[in-house]
Amino acid sequence: MEDCIFCKIIKGEIPSEKVYEDEEILAFKDIHPAAPVHILVIPKKHIATLLEISEQDSYLMGKMMQVIQKIAKDLGIEEKGFRLIANCGPDSGQEVMHIHFHLLAGRKMGPKIIS
Ligand code: 5GP
Ligand code: ZN
Repeated sequence: MEDCIFCKIIKGEIPSEKVYEDEEILAFKDIHPAAPVHILVIPKKHIATLLEISEQDSYLMGKMMQVIQKIAKDLGIEEKGFRLIANCGPDSGQEVMHIHFHLLAGRKMGPKIIS
């Protein structure tokens, strides 16, 4: 997708601090961290919103959860814990129309962390 910021990050047209990459998934540090650890985990396939995930994406979505586990272990946050957030649509405040999970950790979190 030509105008998608995250597709540009995947292609290397916009720099990012990568923490994980394979053929299908990329994880990189959020440019405006809301916690000491704030990673965005995205599929390389452009899917605009959670509502556009199809049955063919089942393997990919499952793999994203495995990757999130791996990142949590690699970063040493698996014991203290982390929060996973995915925004969808205007009320959620979704700004980037390429699905992503926010992986947040490194501090005690209240009921609301992304406004
Ligand atoms: P959303 O509000 O769509 O769930 O979250 C989008 C996230 O992408 C925000 O937390 C924002 O800081 C992050 N973001 C937007 N543009 C860039 C960028 O160019 N690089 C990085 N690393 N993060 C970005
Ligand atoms: Zn995209």
